[in-house]
Amino acid sequence: MHSIDQVDIAIIGAGLGGAAAMALLDDAGFSAHCFEQAPVFTRLGAGIHIGPNVMKVFRRIGLEDRLAAIGSHPDYWFSRDGMTGDYLSRIQLGDYAKREYGAPYITIHRGDLHAEQIAALPQDRLHFGHRLTDITERDSDVLLTFANGKQVAAQLVIGADGINSMIREKLLGVEKPRFSGWVGHRALVNMDKLRASGVEFEPCVKWWWEQSRHIMAYATKSNNSEYYYVTGVPVDGWAHEASFVDSSREEMEATFGASHPVVNALIDATEEVTKWPFWNRDPLNLWSQGRLCLLGDACHPMRPHMAQGACMAIEDAAVLARCLEEVGTKDYASAFALYEATRRERATKVQTISNANTWLKEPEDPARVYAHDPLSVQLG
Ligand code: FAD
Repeated sequence: MHSIDQVDIAIIGAGLGGAAAMALLDDAGFSAHCFEQAPVFTRLGAGIHIGPNVMKVFRRIGLEDRLAAIGSHPDYWFSRDGMTGDYLSRIQLGDYAKREYGAPYITIHRGDLHAEQIAALPQDRLHFGHRLTDITERDSDVLLTFANGKQVAAQLVIGADGINSMIREKLLGVEKPRFSGWVGHRALVNMDKLRASGVEFEPCVKWWWEQSRHIMAYATKSNNSEYYYVTGVPVDGWAHEASFVDSSREEMEATFGASHPVVNALIDATEEVTKWPFWNRDPLNLWSQGRLCLLGDACHPMRPHMAQGACMAIEDAAVLARCLEEVGTKDYASAFALYEATRRERATKVQTISNANTWLKEPEDPARVYAHDPLSVQLG
């Protein structure tokens, strides 16, 4: 029989949102513990955009310079027609983003970002191999039970456990996320082949076809030595149990072949490619209850087409830490209400635009997304 450990704040999930929450709560003077089901994290082949809105948060937790040195700094995000190559829109990033939005815009390998976030955390409060299996709300705490037999009593519990969140399930009941009808192919391309093709591969470009099918392609390293793409393709259904399946260059050719020469070169340089279903939920009507509170994909999962899902998780973490600091943990109900009041409108708007896949298809001013600062926005 294990003894029951007591903690003030338990974060469930050490993904991009949970890791940010732990760092920010630490910065605010709390000593949160984070429980992650995975035994270790590995560098899976995927990239991610981090906007200036969230680089400001990484500045606060001391990671901005490291991430800026690792990631690519595109001068533009281009949108182009997949057949003709015509430019549909371009938004300025690079130095312009630093000046106008207050921080750099980077694209980076997701594993590199996550590894930096995890390495910066207090390791003695980071518990890998802890899959939450049961939650019991008691008078003065919450009893958390893990698959490894450990039990922890927490004053507050933050559900940063992703789209299939157990904490969400506890608050709102069992409900599978909805298949969005879209899949994404993800690949890191063979750079020798891409270079040999002689085409110019822009550091950040989204290629569009009819029905909003697309390929988002970008560099994930500062010297542009690694190049990644993720697609968005409507399909009839998703029949697999696995979270992703293997795809192939042949499937890419069948889906996007005979397009603009740069796209063709990208597909020719594809060696390993996987296919992921995109899941969805409608905005939740409950973000917290009692001592339980949600953030990130547990709370507002979205299709990835605006490249802001993780950014919203990290913004949530910043605002939640501020609310707990301002109100104190004793009056957690008021702190959680203040958090939701500050975050709901923005997160829901980004979720809605992402799910519609309209972001930057046509020219628009991205300042409302990128200039935002979750560390200084007025609470409430
Ligand atoms: P997750 O990253 O899903 O982390 C949840 C964590 O909880 C995991 O580590 C999991 O193992 C753990 N966990 C789950 N259940 C339990 C349990 N019972 N017990 C313990 N631990 C548990 N966002 C961007 O901002 N920019 C992008 O460019 C971008 N591109 C994307 C491309 C694709 C193809 C996809 C699919 C998503 C993309 N996103 C992007 C979205 C982003 O990946 C998610 O929004 C983000 O990962 C959410 O972070 P999170 O911490 O809330 O959840």
